[in-house]
Amino acid sequence: MTVRKFRQADWGEPLVFELSHKGRYGFHPPEAGVGDEFKKLVPKGLAREEPAGLPEVSEMEVLRHYIHLSQMNYGVNSGLIYPLGSCTMKYNPIINEVLAGHPSLTEAHPDQDPSTVQGVLEFLYKLKQGYLSVTGMDDATLQPAAGAHGEWTGIMLIRAYHTDRGEAAQRTEIIVPDSAHGTNPASAAMAGYKIVEVPSAPEGTVNLEALKAVVGPQTAGLMLTNPNTLGIFDHQIAEIAAIVHTAGGLMYYDGANLNAIMGKCRPGDMGFDVVHVNLHKTFSTPHGGGGPGSGPVGCKAILAKYLPVPDITYKDGKYALSYDKPKSIGKVHGYYGNVNVMLKAYTYMLTMGPKGLREASEFSVLGANYISKKLMNTKGLSLPFAPEKPRMHESVLSAERLSIDTGVRALNVAKNLLDSGMHASTIYFPLIVHEGLMVEPTETEPLEALDDFIEVVKKTCELAYSNPAEALKAPVNTVVGKLDEAKAAHPKTICLSWKKLCQLTAE
Ligand SMILES: *Cc1c(COP(=O)(O)O)cnc(C)c1O
Repeated sequence: MTVRKFRQADWGEPLVFELSHKGRYGFHPPEAGVGDEFKKLVPKGLAREEPAGLPEVSEMEVLRHYIHLSQMNYGVNSGLIYPLGSCTMKYNPIINEVLAGHPSLTEAHPDQDPSTVQGVLEFLYKLKQGYLSVTGMDDATLQPAAGAHGEWTGIMLIRAYHTDRGEAAQRTEIIVPDSAHGTNPASAAMAGYKIVEVPSAPEGTVNLEALKAVVGPQTAGLMLTNPNTLGIFDHQIAEIAAIVHTAGGLMYYDGANLNAIMGKCRPGDMGFDVVHVNLHKTFSTPHGGGGPGSGPVGCKAILAKYLPVPDITYKDGKYALSYDKPKSIGKVHGYYGNVNVMLKAYTYMLTMGPKGLREASEFSVLGANYISKKLMNTKGLSLPFAPEKPRMHESVLSAERLSIDTGVRALNVAKNLLDSGMHASTIYFPLIVHEGLMVEPTETEPLEALDDFIEVVKKTCELAYSNPAEALKAPVNTVVGKLDEAKAAHPKTICLSWKKLCQLTAE
């Protein structure tokens, strides 16, 4: 295993402005050739009096600076396993990037006449068809820009449905299990609903008795992730859907974990009425760094008339845009959503094919079970919620024993993973697992990578028992050491402007 070591500095690397030397340059742009006539056209007050305060650096310095910054980061393409849980995508195929960078897409403008962008409309149309067949839905919108945005859009569809039936005033509650991702209650609350939490049963599935106790004429719907964030598939799903439907509510499927079941079963067949899928989780588009993402929302026929506009239609060999949907909830994103991301997802669908997508699910489930079986009996760790049951594409171990016995917490295990040249797993999520270590290896990691990961976690637990002080030291091999998390999360102390940063360092 190769361990990359970085210099640890209080403030990381210098900013490109700090490398600046007066008069140094890397590139001489030619004179713009605009005369004073042209300059007069610039409104007063908008023309710059002084040259812009850009850094003055040579081409070599710029190259080295940015290459170095990119190497300080850790991503899917940098090294061994990237075990972040509840995220799914650990693979960004290069062919996706090549196609998404093609000028026929990058130079197209969304205001162009549809007759001049038939290719773009065609792939969007076909992506939607593929999406419908994977999810088992009747119609969809590709507009939402993320999973959370899709959740909100989906809940607005549910709201439109109840409003249309004259039941909006009565149906005020959305039910969310306690294992849910935090975006679920947040999205439903943003759509104006009251959130009712249902506890999980000891097996990590929905507690049916608790569910029956909270559904009623006030229920607008239930939001569920299946398999859930514990990596457990809720086998009672048909019963859950029947309970909610009988009460007049609708079923929302959070598709963030779809890659556990892709090509095996479909939310539409489980009784769900609305679903979002994160293309940046299940369909290989880059994840993280704040975007762009894409969270298409599918729905059953009863909700189709409320979907956002425009629709892409296909008739007589031509693709066109249709705004003919009087009951639509309106637009939820400019134009068609993040089209560049969608082309990557479509490319992935085509390169994998139905068999490939199914195999991706099978391998990710196999990998997750391999890791959890190998680690669940390690001294200090356990697998809460039905340890005898197989997991799907992810599993959540608990380091609670380790923390009680040695003072070494899930956080410290994560920091030791960083020191070993790996990405940390997700920690302290979902909230129902104490000292949670959530691991989602996905289908792309080879067996040796899984073994390396298992070895690092085991060694960290052994070190915790033999020399806890040493285990608590990590990270020492990373670009920055342990961050002051309270300070980093405080809006008044966090400072993102380089001049201020310099002032702070000076103090
Ligand atoms: C990631 C995730 C979300 C939110 O999706 P974003 O695309 O990050 O907005 C919702 N639910 C679950 C279970 C998730 O893992």
